[in-house]
Amino acid sequence: MNDVMLQYIGGERRPGRGEQLTITEPATGALIATGAAASTADVDDAVAAARAAFPAWSGSAPAERSAALYRWADVLSSRADELAAMESRGGGKPISLAKGFDLPGVIDNIAFFAGAARNLEGRAVAEYSGEHTSSVRREPIGVVGSIAPWNYPLQMAAWKILPAVAAGNTVVLKPSELTPLTSLVFAETAVEAGIPTGVINVVTGTGGEAGAALVAHPDVAMVSFTGSTAVGKQVAATAAGAVKRVHLELGGKAPFVVFDDADLEAAARGAVAGALINAGQDCTAATRAYIQRPRFDEFVSRVADLMDGVRIGPVDDPDTDLGSLISPTHRDRVVAMVDRARTAGAKVVRGGRIPQHMPTAGAYYEPTLITGATQDSEIVQHEVFGPVLVCLPFDTDDEAIALANDTPYGLAASAWSRDVFRTQRAAREIRAGCVWLNDHIPIVSEMPHGGFGASGFGKDMSAYSFEEYTNVKHVMAELTGVADKSWHQLIFRSR
Ligand code: NAD
Repeated sequence: MNDVMLQYIGGERRPGRGEQLTITEPATGALIATGAAASTADVDDAVAAARAAFPAWSGSAPAERSAALYRWADVLSSRADELAAMESRGGGKPISLAKGFDLPGVIDNIAFFAGAARNLEGRAVAEYSGEHTSSVRREPIGVVGSIAPWNYPLQMAAWKILPAVAAGNTVVLKPSELTPLTSLVFAETAVEAGIPTGVINVVTGTGGEAGAALVAHPDVAMVSFTGSTAVGKQVAATAAGAVKRVHLELGGKAPFVVFDDADLEAAARGAVAGALINAGQDCTAATRAYIQRPRFDEFVSRVADLMDGVRIGPVDDPDTDLGSLISPTHRDRVVAMVDRARTAGAKVVRGGRIPQHMPTAGAYYEPTLITGATQDSEIVQHEVFGPVLVCLPFDTDDEAIALANDTPYGLAASAWSRDVFRTQRAAREIRAGCVWLNDHIPIVSEMPHGGFGASGFGKDMSAYSFEEYTNVKHVMAELTGVADKSWHQLIFRSR
């Protein structure tokens, strides 16, 4: 039995005092590790460590924090292959994805925030009243409680931790109990790079115990949560009780709008890649493709052909395109949703099955293409979080925009056309935190990621994220030195 210490508190790995967790390999069902989860007492210790580290870290010069982050990027780069292998095995994702997307993304994020740490913004210092000098201080908030999902464990840990610590906060991260191992190494490499102990702590535990305790903790000044809309609502409700700042990155149901003048080959390739990346367990994945009616059949047929060429295989095989879902439980949820769509009259054009050639204890599911579903059906309205693309036809541009906006979510979307006026209209009128034009999925550290509506609020990545992780303080210094200020007329009149 490979028993692992799943907590990283004040710079030390230690076992938790909660229930025993079992961490398995999603693609095979094999045991990776066991270890004790964080109890409420462990969360208390982690918050205390973060609180103790806050005065020195928040008081350090931006240049010092920046230098430490640059060193961290170097340390992580030197261990990229090892971490990619862990991420692939722990998340059931192909090694090519972990090596080509997860690790480079995280390393670039660290480097971006190393630079951004020295570039916090504010308004010009000036005499706005005529009698005072006004200036703005941008201050870290304190201890940030961060909660992350399992779909991109390392990237989500990076997105939560980096802007927070770059701005001078200290952090307690609770990764998903299904995928904690790379987050623990991530925090250790920060200390290896010279970031003081206690600045980044990791508590591995269940949402109900460690997650809830972190959100409710009186010494946690802000909660940053990435996960499902259902849990996000609970987190927000708890935070509201304490008037605690909260940042929510929640679910998505990204529309993919193909106008009749689009490059159909580009759109079909974009749809398949955008729907299947990370086995569709991506909050921005293409899920609802709307195709203008004259091109509908051609598009569906090309997508089906492309799906036929996708190679399902062991995650450590560099030629594997599609790995496993996170767990058999989650896979069964996807199976049930596709079955219900079928029963409701939708046509499953491709997939909709568990592949027979992969280990039965794994959580594989075939790339799945669905037509004939109705706009108000579950498969169109709700997050599937699996390798499932639904295609629906539309007639007019007005209708396409209305359909794209017709779910409670608003995280990401794409529009495909050669007509700049059409794409610009889509960019303007589709309600989502990101609208891609003639592409779907790419992200860059310099640009914000975050949703509208049921997808949450606040931004990850980019300098915009500092709006979440800093308090803006107005300092107003009186300049005249007189006791009888001009505005005192409001109270004293001429006395
Ligand atoms: P989840 O909501 O079940 O869990 C997310 C995290 O919250 C986990 O660490 C979990 O342990 C914790 N948690 C659960 N209950 C809790 C509670 N009561 N209090 C505090 N914490 C609790 O989500 P998941 O299944 O891990 O991840 C998939 C979801 O994440 C999808 O909905 C996906 O769209 C979303 N997601 C969103 C983004 C984004 O940027 N918007 C990115 C990735 C994933």
